[in-house]
Amino acid sequence: MNRILIVEDEVAIAELERDYLELSGFQVEIENDGDTGLARALGEEFDMYILDLMLPGTDGFEICRRIREVKNTPILMVSAKKDDIDKIRGLGLGADDYITKPFSPSELVARVKAHLSRYERLIGSSANAQNNDVIEIRGIRIDKTARRVWINDEEKQFTTKEFDLLTFLAEHPNHVFTKEELFREIWDMESIGDIATVTVHIKKIREKIELDTAKPQYIETIWGVGYRFKV
Ligand code: CA
Repeated sequence: MNRILIVEDEVAIAELERDYLELSGFQVEIENDGDTGLARALGEEFDMYILDLMLPGTDGFEICRRIREVKNTPILMVSAKKDDIDKIRGLGLGADDYITKPFSPSELVARVKAHLSRYERLIGSSANAQNNDVIEIRGIRIDKTARRVWINDEEKQFTTKEFDLLTFLAEHPNHVFTKEELFREIWDMESIGDIATVTVHIKKIREKIELDTAKPQYIETIWGVGYRFKV
């Protein structure tokens, strides 16, 4: 469950925000003064911060700045005056969003959800990149763990053998393999087929990865020998 910290000195507003966020499944903590708010923001783990600007003790500007020094967690700033939003932007404190009072609670919830899902995607994609075995060569990205391929950020579908063949070649850049070697490597001995299968698969792969299959930029034919993945 996502935990949100609200720092807001107007108790009624803080409770309204909390009620709506809790209805949407969030766990919400409230602090009514800036000093305690800052201490909790820095000392505990939250998934998002909602900070009022004018607070007793440390103000919202300062809390935002201090959080940003150590965390990338989304921050939504709440302000009573439209002018303050320009001020927050101008200060470059690193807040993710701004909302002016009075606002509708459903708008607040929508914004919180949007920022949390964006942040989770960000965290998720960097976690994937760390855990997955990925090959990247000139616009081709092969995720070996997920068995997915992107060409210039567009995902392409490959059959099992096409994927295995492309990955094997990409893992051995500039190495020339004969069709026999590739067949032995990718197809097991009992499989029906011969080295012509390799030619057919290379043709299919090229149709997916090459801009012009007549002038392949990735998988090169070495006449009379075989193929290589050019880097
Ligand atoms: Ca206030």
